Amino acid sequence: MKHFPIFIAVEGRRIVVSGGGEAALAKLRLLLKTEAHLNVFAAEPAQEIRDWAHKGRLTLTPRALEPGDTLCAKLFYAANEDEAEDARVAALAHADGALVNIVDNLNDSAFITPAIVDRDPVTIAIGTEGAAPVLARTIKKDLEEKLPANLGLLARIGKAFRNRMEALPFGVKRRDFWLDYYFNTDVSTNATEAQHTLETLLEKHLQSDDKKGRVDLVGAGPGDPELLTLKARNALDKADVVIYDRLVSQEILELARREATMISAGKEGFGPSVSQDEINAMITGHAINGAHVVRLKSGDPTVFGRLDEEIEACEALNIDWRIIPGITAASAAVASIGQSLTKRGRNSGIRFLTGHDTKGFADHDWRALAQKGEVAAIYMGKKSARFFQGRLLMHGADPATPVTVIENASRTDQRILSTTLSELEPALSNANLTGPALTFLGLAPRAALQAAEDINPQEVAYEPRLYT
Ligand code: SAH
Repeated sequence: MKHFPIFIAVEGRRIVVSGGGEAALAKLRLLLKTEAHLNVFAAEPAQEIRDWAHKGRLTLTPRALEPGDTLCAKLFYAANEDEAEDARVAALAHADGALVNIVDNLNDSAFITPAIVDRDPVTIAIGTEGAAPVLARTIKKDLEEKLPANLGLLARIGKAFRNRMEALPFGVKRRDFWLDYYFNTDVSTNATEAQHTLETLLEKHLQSDDKKGRVDLVGAGPGDPELLTLKARNALDKADVVIYDRLVSQEILELARREATMISAGKEGFGPSVSQDEINAMITGHAINGAHVVRLKSGDPTVFGRLDEEIEACEALNIDWRIIPGITAASAAVASIGQSLTKRGRNSGIRFLTGHDTKGFADHDWRALAQKGEVAAIYMGKKSARFFQGRLLMHGADPATPVTVIENASRTDQRILSTTLSELEPALSNANLTGPALTFLGLAPRAALQAAEDINPQEVAYEPRLYT
């Protein structure tokens, strides 16, 4: 950042502009929105500037700037559209201690003026350090369209109402009130009516005597932040406390409200490092204290997420909860190999299995899984791969059954291991996958499948392959 954005207090201060043409007019149109005293020095001022002077909106001195004209000026604009003249007046203003901007001369300017979206007192400044004015204009246009025209008025009325806030307890309650005011209430542009709306709203919030917070059980998806649902984003935006699992990616954690308390539940692959009871207690403890808790789980919270235990803990204490679904690892993984989870004529169903449960390697219906055409998505299946392999082969599974392991699905470090049941181990150990991985039994990446169909089935050898 070569320029640091700040808001300068200009109320009642002097801002001096040297110049009377288009460049000066453009700056003056912005400056007239402020409560500063504007002084213009121009030998030949445009008619518009004369008119403003006439109406008392600025003072005009119809001559070139001279030494002493910029005394006590806070800001100074050299807008003569004449390089030599701009350099001369800029030097004078600089000597008088003003912050100097020379129009269209980034290098010699002490500050630059951003593109401004004005909903006073809400002001948005957009700067590109002169690199991309078109971009700044487009962003400004987008924001102008997005922000209601009466936002400034709402903010001013809201500000005047702040002293009434003492009635509401500090924290979540107050924030909910303001969110309700700005985003859920149809507030009139008439100040008296708006005041009335605020009173009614306050009454409503005072009456809701529930001091408990609530719990959102949120799916964070497989890792790519773009695979987060809008509902999940909104929940993160409003959270007071976020309790997240180890697999939730850093990029997603960064989307949480800046003031939110972030707590790692740090569950490890084999057995939790923070016990489930401790996690339940954390969730309910914060909610009881009035916090909006986001319990953030990787993928979809309803898939191998021990969700029910957390729901039961909330129910036991009468805490409101809801589930916000997410994209489960199997969906992201299957997308990465260009396949479908189900396919007409291939598999009319799919099993979601876990490689291990609380008792160790999980037991399944091996006979059924060993059948031709079975497809299974195996979660937490790395350490149990040899166990799976052995059980399936023992129950008569075809050794050539394709097996695909997708590590870090949807993330930038995604890797794909394409192999067969008979080669799964040692291929998996050799690949040394360190991230979360999902194993598909009975599915090969689309490209590999294509290659296999092109050659004599007798010759098909699913060489273990690593795609990155
Ligand atoms: N609720 C999660 C699953 C939690 S169990 C979901 O719906 O995805 C944790 C297991 O999910 C990991 O051991 C791994 O098998 C799988 N997993 C989670 N994220 C993954 C990712 N980005 N890529 C591959 N597998 C993933």
